[in-house]
Amino acid sequence: MKALVYQGNGRIGVEERPVPEIQEDSDVILKVTMATICSSDIHIKHGAVPRAVPGTILGHEFVGQVVQTGSAVRTVRPGDRVSVNVETFCGRCFYCKRGFVNNCTDPAGGWSLGCRIDGGQAEYVRIPYGDNGLTRIPDNVTDEQALFTGDLLSTGYWAAKIGEIKEGDTVAVLGAGPTGLCCMMAARLYQPSRIIAVDVLENRLQLAQEQGLADVILTPGKSDVRSEILKNTEGRGADVVIEAAGGKNTFQMAWETARPNGVVCLVAMYEEDQTLPLPQMYGKNLIFKTGGVDACDCPEIMRLIQEGKLDATCLITHRTSFEHILEAYQIFEDKKEGIMKWAIRM
Ligand SMILES: [Zn+2]
Ligand SMILES: [Zn+2]
Repeated sequence: MKALVYQGNGRIGVEERPVPEIQEDSDVILKVTMATICSSDIHIKHGAVPRAVPGTILGHEFVGQVVQTGSAVRTVRPGDRVSVNVETFCGRCFYCKRGFVNNCTDPAGGWSLGCRIDGGQAEYVRIPYGDNGLTRIPDNVTDEQALFTGDLLSTGYWAAKIGEIKEGDTVAVLGAGPTGLCCMMAARLYQPSRIIAVDVLENRLQLAQEQGLADVILTPGKSDVRSEILKNTEGRGADVVIEAAGGKNTFQMAWETARPNGVVCLVAMYEEDQTLPLPQMYGKNLIFKTGGVDACDCPEIMRLIQEGKLDATCLITHRTSFEHILEAYQIFEDKKEGIMKWAIRM
């Protein structure tokens, strides 16, 4: 089969690989039907993900059809259409039992798919712990609607949940890229009084506004983000700030624009250390939540998609087929043509 492989040293390429086989009785083999490219794939290509193993097939955001199941698999059958969870988790360890699946202690636990074990930018893929890692796609949900369930929408859903958003809150979301937009979509479910979107790219803010995801849009440089957020909150600051930008000053912007006793939720992946100026923060009594998604709410997310309450298809700006995947990577990496997300037919 054809597969897109991380070759190490900044290189990726399409290679011929054997079709994967069942190894454990909890495994599922999928025929991949649609995949996308995530910014994490670009981080791997650049060598910025130390645990990524050269020679691994990339791809952790995709949907497919079940072709074979191990003897212990109970929740899916051959023929089922399924979305795939970015994280592999055993469901039995200390962390899994508490819903903290990102820290599953299984050797393949956490984000391993398309990083340490072969992922889904290929014709077929093996999914360990298929009962935990797959969610059935209802007949009236399309592949495009389901494509982001296991990664982007899971991240947005998780961020909004740990942000402890209450009805009537003001939520500021820094970054209106794919992750920020999914955070806004999920934040809406909690009925905040307003969502304030901040980004340097105005086309992204426009999309956020057009889609009804942001009530207020702010561009750093054009407006003073901190004072505008204070103006919108009777001088207090945002009740919840979700930092999904990971820019040079966005960590500082996050804690500065939060109100005292507010929650600052750090979803962004930083490439550099950040400074926590505790003397300046003293008395503000902030609550920081940090880290990577615990992607264990996929059945709930799929239900919300089916009910029309979550719809991330507006992120798909580009479509192609697998034979053009290298060009697709280049456009995504260079942020050309106003690209937000690809939908790649396999
Ligand atoms: Zn990803
Ligand atoms: Zn576990």
